[in-house]
Amino acid sequence: MTGKIYGNEFALKTFSSMFKSGRIPHSFLIYGEKGLGKKMLAEYLAASLLCERKTGFSCGECHSCKIAAKKAHPDIIYPEQSGKLNTYSVDSCRKVCADAFIAPNNGDFKVYIFADADNIQLSAQNALLKIVEEPPEHVYFIFTASFRDSFLPTILSRVTCIGASECSRDQCAAALAERGFEDDQIREASEAFGGNIGMCIKYLEDEQLKAITALTKRAVDSIINKDEYSLLTVFSSPELKDRNYSVLFLESLDKVIRDSAVVRYNENVAMTGCYPKGALRLSEQISVKTVEKIHTYLNQAAADIKANVSSVLLMSALCGEIMNS
Ligand SMILES: [Zn+2]
Repeated sequence: MTGKIYGNEFALKTFSSMFKSGRIPHSFLIYGEKGLGKKMLAEYLAASLLCERKTGFSCGECHSCKIAAKKAHPDIIYPEQSGKLNTYSVDSCRKVCADAFIAPNNGDFKVYIFADADNIQLSAQNALLKIVEEPPEHVYFIFTASFRDSFLPTILSRVTCIGASECSRDQCAAALAERGFEDDQIREASEAFGGNIGMCIKYLEDEQLKAITALTKRAVDSIINKDEYSLLTVFSSPELKDRNYSVLFLESLDKVIRDSAVVRYNENVAMTGCYPKGALRLSEQISVKTVEKIHTYLNQAAADIKANVSSVLLMSALCGEIMNS
């Protein structure tokens, strides 16, 4: 185990009832937003499968659990990722197919963890299809990804999908305190990212995310106040001359905009953006139609910037479009 798992009761319950029934599927997909602990769940499941005490969970004390916690278990295998997008290629997946037929090193099983598999190539998925459908008795596959849609329907029909979920605020606060963060830091992070422990930690450790969050909040407030000048000031911030930075900002703003569409139907929904309070206020002010328009503009702008259109020109045009929508 790499640490204590907070929240994710549904996933843990599912694991435990599988072990109790003795019917454990051989292929899993653990999915959900960034920061919800999908990889931890995958590693916990792998360690539980290999635990020498065979009690259905990782005891943390046997030799197998100890080396699993150090990420040094020879039977927990992380297939090779390559390229700019850190993707799983056909070659990498073919190697897995060949390796899977070789008996385990230490324990009874081999577990392949394809973490962050959203970018897995379609051809690579096809290469895995057969083995995922009928793996050797000693083999388990665990994929983790933000979106289920990243996979072909043929893969999805062969894996057991388990959603990772947000923690309660208290669980999140406890996890952050355990990492040594102070109360006011915890409050600030949790205001932006609720019970998403991974994103809260990232917020507290990553200056860029903190700055983008601040910029997003200012943009949302400007839209709420119908203050075009203030929105223009945000959109002409010097940081946004950087392409990557401006794409991250547009994506962050888009999440809050989308939250505002969802929250009007269900106040208790877990929001994905960094400004839940803003999303709620926005939902009281603008129509779903306007939300859709802004969402389209933001998406288009992000796509244009990725395609090398100057972000400076684009941002000021975008500001007008948002205000007139
Ligand atoms: Zn153990």
